[in-house]
Amino acid sequence: MPKKVPVVEKIHKVNDQLALENRAKLDEAGVFSVNLMASPGAGKTSLIERTLKTLGDEYNIAVIDGDLASSIDADRAAAAGATAVQINTGGSCHLDAHMLRNAFAELDLKKFDLLLVENVGNLVCPSGFQLGTHKNVLIASTPEGDDKPYKYPKMYQNVDVLIINKTDLLSLLSFDMEYFTKGVEILSPGLTTFPLSCQTGDGFDAWIDWLDTQMMSDE
Ligand code: MG
Ligand code: ZN
Repeated sequence: MPKKVPVVEKIHKVNDQLALENRAKLDEAGVFSVNLMASPGAGKTSLIERTLKTLGDEYNIAVIDGDLASSIDADRAAAAGATAVQINTGGSCHLDAHMLRNAFAELDLKKFDLLLVENVGNLVCPSGFQLGTHKNVLIASTPEGDDKPYKYPKMYQNVDVLIINKTDLLSLLSFDMEYFTKGVEILSPGLTTFPLSCQTGDGFDAWIDWLDTQMMSDE
């Protein structure tokens, strides 16, 4: 087993270097970018669709979609008006900086103001691979249960923003917001958090305002 550690370290070192190069490319092109992470079904694609509908007239938005297989999500993003690139990870359960770099080759980055990267649905390893995006955003959703910060601490520790999606379902679920929030606060004190519903649009303005502010301070 002693050999395993250096190999893992090397993989992360190479990834971090590529992530820095990706960031430089994004900065040079003047694109603000977010890495959207979540478990399957939390609403990453729905958040992207509603964000496109809300900001699509104001900004040029590109979407890079990571999935094990299929182009379902990229097709949805394209239908909502984005320039969308699908990355099929061929079995890998997370995106890495190298995959993002390959996707950049399909985009004329200078044309865009905002890049939304939809990571593979998974609460474990995406948090271990920086992509070079400006912000890491985690989407939790109420049907997943209120214990997720306690079960997936690394994910909740390594994000800049937390979205709590599907708040419209709260009255139907036993989701204890106080217990959930307490777990988040232990791991990431003061984490910027947006409870919202991609379905009804409730609370969505705060997320849009945040994006707007980020893009303005980016210029
Ligand atoms: Mg999706
Ligand atoms: Zn993985």
